[in-house]
Amino acid sequence: MLYDTAPEDEQKVLVKGDRRDAAVYRVVRFLLLNRIPFAVEGGPQGQGRVILRIGERELQNPPLITLAEALHLTRYSGGTDYDVVVVGGGPAGLTAAINHAGLFGHKVLIVENEAPGGAAGTAVNVIDNHFGFPDGIVAGELAQRGLRQALNMKVEWLPACRAEAGVCRR
Ligand SMILES: Cc1cc2nc3c(=O)[nH]c(=O)nc-3n(C[C@H](O)[C@H](O)[C@H](O)COP(=O)(O)OP(=O)(O)OC[C@H]3O[C@@H](n4cnc5c(N)ncnc54)[C@H](O)[C@@H]3O)c2cc1C
Repeated sequence: MLYDTAPEDEQKVLVKGDRRDAAVYRVVRFLLLNRIPFAVEGGPQGQGRVILRIGERELQNPPLITLAEALHLTRYSGGTDYDVVVVGGGPAGLTAAINHAGLFGHKVLIVENEAPGGAAGTAVNVIDNHFGFPDGIVAGELAQRGLRQALNMKVEWLPACRAEAGVCRR
């Protein structure tokens, strides 16, 4: 995956670690999919180690769910009483959530393993076959719009959580 340092005044996160390291890649991928501007700084962190600076806060090898919370990406009230729990925040899951919340007024939670948009969120191409976008739309932007629409309808959003037998695996 290609990535570059965001302009300094836009950087929200400083990632310290070896760019070739899997631990750094995991974090960078999550930031990219969530469209969080960041910079990467190499250093003597050692293999398998990544340090993140978010404002005054420093996180070492955080689980992605902790990172999501630190970046205020999570919109989860901690409730257990939902009309609908959608597993997966790809196009199908976001559409289902928007329809349940918007059409039927259901209380909806989406549990997403990683970031919004699923396969569509990872694509770098312009999607030109989507209804309502005659000039096409970049896949990541479509994903963010879908999530925003769901949140506007009071859908709750729990990213970086893999649903497994009713339990969130971090
Ligand atoms: C490179 C690329 C380009 C594409 N371009 C186009 C295009 O131009 N036009 C077009 O129409 N389509 C395109 N597609 C196809 C489109 O992305 C898919 O059809 C679409 O993403 C399918 O949506 P989905 O919600 O069914 O599944 P997915 O997109 O696969 O989403 C499933 C989501 O569920 C999550 N998930 C899975 N298991 C769990 C679990 N246990 N707990 C929590 N979350 C879980 C995953 O993390 C994922 O976010 C493209 C796909 C790719 C990869």
